[in-house]
Amino acid sequence: MLNIVIFGGPGSGKGTQSEKIIEKYGLEHISTGDVLRAEIKNKTELGKIADSYISKGQLVPDELIIDILASVFDKKKDSKGVIFDGFPRTIPQAEALKKMLSERGTSINAVVALEVADEELVIRLLNRGKISGRSDDNKETIQQRLNV
Ligand code: UDP
Ligand code: MG
Repeated sequence: MLNIVIFGGPGSGKGTQSEKIIEKYGLEHISTGDVLRAEIKNKTELGKIADSYISKGQLVPDELIIDILASVFDKKKDSKGVIFDGFPRTIPQAEALKKMLSERGTSINAVVALEVADEELVIRLLNRGKISGRSDDNKETIQQRLNV
């Protein structure tokens, strides 16, 4: 497998660049943020918990997100590879990812880090907030997400 982690602040373009990489290399996309937002939209138990963190700009607890990640990955493990977008975000998550992949006989081949100045991120996220309808694309929450 060709497994890639795409890393960067909120609004740095992880989702946008993931789409281009996926098209070029035929990979599958795992965006933990998208998974959580789908749960919120479907009003599941997990969605309710996730919403309480996301709307405050905080991280969903490691144990929860690590479990979700493993089950999403297992649905895609017969693919050419996976791009992890928005995960890992903490050291325990990175360690869990490494372990999860090694138990499945694979690993991360590359990390792409998108570096964008905070002032630019704020401009982009406020603009995105006008159309995204995301509960976290507002001034106070953006600042909290940058800190986290
Ligand atoms: N989030 C999280 N863990 C994840 C992915 C997302 O806790 O693995 C939460 C967190 O609250 C974050 C929000 O979802 O601020 C949005 O994350 P996403 O990666 O979708 O958006 P981005 O930060 O790239 O704008
Ligand atoms: Mg994103």
